[in-house]
Amino acid sequence: MSIAYIGLGSNLGDRACYIRNAVALLEQGGASVLKMSAVTETDPVGGPPQHKFLNAVVKVATRLSPVELLDHCQAIEQKLGRVRTVANGPRTIDLDILLYDHLAMDTPQLKIPHPRMFERAFVLEPLKEIEPDLLEESLNARRKIR
Ligand code: ADP
Ligand code: MG
Repeated sequence: MSIAYIGLGSNLGDRACYIRNAVALLEQGGASVLKMSAVTETDPVGGPPQHKFLNAVVKVATRLSPVELLDHCQAIEQKLGRVRTVANGPRTIDLDILLYDHLAMDTPQLKIPHPRMFERAFVLEPLKEIEPDLLEESLNARRKIR
């Protein structure tokens, strides 16, 4: 069993509903949610002018490999009607794999830890809420691989 942290974000339509449905779908596809942060409203970072986001982070236990987990996340995005327009543009739902065990990987398809998570308050704050010690550990690990 592996442990992964997934960041969720939505800024189109019924945002809270998209977050809830995405969490339910994660469970159905083999990622059991162990912890979930509060859902908080945040200002968009980058991209065109757009609505505020709701963001949350979940901790999951899964037997899916990292790539299988990414496939699962992308299938959920599709199912919940995400349409990719511009980079960092508005989205019904975005699921990003933040961390997967102590894994570090860097392929065009999948980068873990998520390359932009360490500068995003909307990821760091919820992560700190559910796992106060983890950030310090993963920052140290990141220093080692650089
Ligand atoms: P963003 O989340 O940066 O706004 P997208 O959700 O459109 O952008 O994702 C773009 C691509 O990022 C995806 O097709 C996926 O292959 C890639 N990607 C790389 N690393 C990750 C990761 N850790 N989690 C989710 N997607 C990732
Ligand atoms: Mg994404």
